[in-house]
Amino acid sequence: MPICDICGMEAVTLYECSRCGAKFCDECGDPKRLLCYDCLDLEGEEGWVEEEWEEWEEEEWGEEDWEEWEEAN
Ligand SMILES: [Zn+2]
Ligand SMILES: [Zn+2]
Repeated sequence: MPICDICGMEAVTLYECSRCGAKFCDECGDPKRLLCYDCLDLEGEEGWVEEEWEEWEEEEWGEEDWEEWEEAN
């Protein structure tokens, strides 16, 4: 059986990355876009990391919240 360049495991089907040419199994990349896991990271089209940060900022306490807390104690 052929061996995946990314995880080093034998795989029934290998795909060739259109960016770096690495042979990867279906667990080590996106067969539809022909990108290995490493190159998917570089493309970064999902942008999920940035979205998560925006959510955090919304949950931060404002100045008013702190003043109310101090008066109540
Ligand atoms: Zn693999
Ligand atoms: Zn690649």
